[in-house]
Amino acid sequence: MRMANAIGTRPDTESGMRDSHGRQINYLRISVTDRCDLRCRYCMDEVMQFLPRREILTLEETAIIAERFIARGVRRIRLSGGEPLVRRDFADLARALGRHVKSGALDELTLTTNGTQLAHHADMLFDAGVRRINVSLDALDPAIFGHITRGGDIAKVLEGLRAAKEAGLKVKLNMVALRGVNEDQVLPILDYCEAHGHDLTLIETMPLGDVADDRADHFLPLIEAIAPIRARHDLIPLDERTGGPARYFALSGLKTKLGLITPLSNNFCADCNRMRLTCQGRIYMCLGHEDHIDLKAAFRTHGVAGIDTLLDQALAAKPLAHDFTVARGAAPATHRHMNVTGG
Ligand code: SAM
Ligand code: SF4
Repeated sequence: MRMANAIGTRPDTESGMRDSHGRQINYLRISVTDRCDLRCRYCMDEVMQFLPRREILTLEETAIIAERFIARGVRRIRLSGGEPLVRRDFADLARALGRHVKSGALDELTLTTNGTQLAHHADMLFDAGVRRINVSLDALDPAIFGHITRGGDIAKVLEGLRAAKEAGLKVKLNMVALRGVNEDQVLPILDYCEAHGHDLTLIETMPLGDVADDRADHFLPLIEAIAPIRARHDLIPLDERTGGPARYFALSGLKTKLGLITPLSNNFCADCNRMRLTCQGRIYMCLGHEDHIDLKAAFRTHGVAGIDTLLDQALAAKPLAHDFTVARGAAPATHRHMNVTGG
């Protein structure tokens, strides 16, 4: 299968894609695998049933579909998962999509990773054209990290972070704030970011998929999570956006910028600019809804021509907003976990 052909067959890059609510869709997040080497408590259950390999798009298919999104006006792509770096042929996809950054068809190719395999991939990512990555780190304390990830080894993540910096990648740490679990890690992680030249984004836990814990027990509104930061620093709102839902703040006396992602306490759907492609070849128009469009079958039957019609359907069907609530005993907003849709 050829990989370079999907761009340029439809001349609508200037107008881009708009959904039925008038929002411009220029951002694609791809979950390249639902598998992962960790089992973070807020993301997955301890025992997970992953998709059979035959159901997964090949990386060539993924690249071709992504190229159709680029042809339709997508300017930024983030690769996620599951853990993207556990996919064996991940480097081929990064290189295939990175070519579009180098040609100017894409503004940016980024990655979200748990960092455990980053030490082996950092140079490859930079060579492929990636310049910014998000690394998830919910605790610096090895015991708390091991508890949240159900056995993860923080030393590997720290090694990955060192390698990323050496490779020239700009790093932002993602930290999910969890009441009773990692509140006391907010300042240590902020200090770590300042010492290493990283930025930090705090995230509220979202009700996606059943997990062993009741999310209501650990939901921590970010207004509470940042209290220790506010006690030390002024938060100065920045206009800056990086294509995602985070609101950014400068912190007095620090170089580190703070991002806040508040899907529960301060809904940001009015500015949503994205679609999500899963490794199964489904488009999800919203993280918080079950509705999806199956691209894989159309693509395997009709090739690239089958994709455009379904992209138009996806745009028309994109909902206005998610309706997340985290209440004791409440069912999650979706059956699927975050690893399927890509965080
Ligand atoms: N495995 C990679 C990682 O952890 O960075 C990429 C995939 S992970 C699903 C992407 C992001 O989603 C991570 O920052 C993770 O902390 C976040 N995440 C996972 N489940 C979540 C949930 N239920 N609510 C909020 N954030 C979640
Ligand atoms: Fe894996 Fe990322 Fe989910 Fe943690 S948050 S279990 S690292 S996919």
